[in-house]
Amino acid sequence: MADLQSLANVVGPENLTVDDDVRHEFGRDWTRYMQPAPLAVTFPRSTEHVRGIVRWARNEKVGIVPSGGRSGLSGGAMAIKGELVVSFSKMNKILELSRGDAMVRCEAGVITENLQKFALDHGFYYPVDFAARGSSAIGGNIATNAGGIKVLRYGLTRDWVAGLTVVTGTGEVLELGKGLIKNATGYDLRHLFIGSEGTLGLVTHATMRLTRPPLPQRVLFMAVNDTESIMKIFDAFRSSVAISAFETLNEDAMQGVSAKGLKRPLETVSRWYVLVEHDTADNDRALEVFQTVMNEGLALDGVVSESSAQAAALWRLREDITEALAHHTPYKNDVSVMVSRVPSFLADADAVLKREYPTYTIVWFGHIGDGNLHISILKPKELPMEQFYKACQKVDTMLFEVVQKHGGSISAEHGVGLTKKPFLSYTRSPEEIATMRALKQVFDPDGIMNPGKMFDP
Ligand SMILES: Cc1cc2nc3c(=O)[nH]c(=O)nc-3n(C[C@H](O)[C@H](O)[C@H](O)COP(=O)(O)OP(=O)(O)OC[C@H]3O[C@@H](n4cnc5c(N)ncnc54)[C@H](O)[C@@H]3O)c2cc1C
Repeated sequence: MADLQSLANVVGPENLTVDDDVRHEFGRDWTRYMQPAPLAVTFPRSTEHVRGIVRWARNEKVGIVPSGGRSGLSGGAMAIKGELVVSFSKMNKILELSRGDAMVRCEAGVITENLQKFALDHGFYYPVDFAARGSSAIGGNIATNAGGIKVLRYGLTRDWVAGLTVVTGTGEVLELGKGLIKNATGYDLRHLFIGSEGTLGLVTHATMRLTRPPLPQRVLFMAVNDTESIMKIFDAFRSSVAISAFETLNEDAMQGVSAKGLKRPLETVSRWYVLVEHDTADNDRALEVFQTVMNEGLALDGVVSESSAQAAALWRLREDITEALAHHTPYKNDVSVMVSRVPSFLADADAVLKREYPTYTIVWFGHIGDGNLHISILKPKELPMEQFYKACQKVDTMLFEVVQKHGGSISAEHGVGLTKKPFLSYTRSPEEIATMRALKQVFDPDGIMNPGKMFDP
């Protein structure tokens, strides 16, 4: 039995709990196929606390599950085997803005939306953005290299991390990157920790880059019949308009958000819908492109936002999908291919899914402008969860063969965690996985950091 009293001495008894409700709440993320079963939950207040926690865990041979906003979709923050959950929810302060550097230093538990608001309040912009912005935390975003809806213009979380403080699985504190734009002094270890899903160490602080706020944005929403047309529309806009997002959803996704009370913006019902966001300064050109794609029959119908409220309403059709479908406990996939391969990948994947799931509803949506598609298979009400999960995992192998054939990734932005662990080899070669294992051995020789996630030792 682990000695929790000595851990309480490290973090203070008020920052450690074995309360059942808290363990249940903090031992899980958005994944719903597994039951949380953590040993305890601790709420460090400082890097020193985190270092003490890691040393304690090494001594006691207890696994650690780092926990941010718990909005993860791959089970990365699930504690299912008596691990200690280390929640950063009390390390949630924005510490320092450096205007000259256009950078902000913050604790790992800062909620993404709070950083976005802070940046705007100070005349800057933090561009990584997605529907879980109100609950996800910067530490979790870094650990998953979160992407989202503005990747086309601004890239991924990785592109905004200028410095990190991490506590490794050996209890060492590393200052990585230090906010330097240029630093040609060997391996950039910062990038190893970005996207490592807590398997190498814990991020306690981050220095994030900021940029200037964008010009006002406008949104176009179109009904489209097929993916070839979607990609032609993408090409037409991208080549002549400054677009910041190009998103898609299928009719099943539209039905999901409509059932939750969102109004359809178009009378036309079609297989696909596309949302394009662009700088208002490019209005005239965007309208010309819109007219052209309508004339050419690529878009069947469309609407242009006339105000920011209308733009927000159109965005909700895309952004509310995950929440609208949550009550179906969907089985999720988050795959990517190169943009040029989207139509052929989609045709192949759709054929497999339709063949294997003749009676299930298959919802497609995602960031098609960067080659990333989310696939949600809705659980039929009467089917027991375990049976549904097993059936879906079987189909995953077929889907991932298609992903592999098209040179894609089995997890574009949600991470590997527990749910995609069995399939890592569809995207990473045996040599790459062996190298990742060797790296883990360096930073976490006792295997205490998020054990069982991403790959087995
Ligand atoms: C409605 C909805 C929409 C979403 N849309 C997107 C999207 O568009 N793009 C996208 O990329 N993701 C999306 N996600 C997934 C999710 O929000 C992201 O993966 C997010 O980055 C997770 O952050 P979090 O703080 O909630 O992390 P958590 O879920 O708490 O943890 C995620 C992983 O990071 C590790 N971790 C957390 N904090 C730390 C830390 N301080 N140090 C080390 N490891 C840590 C955890 O152990 C776990 O492995 C969406 C989720 C939802 C629910």
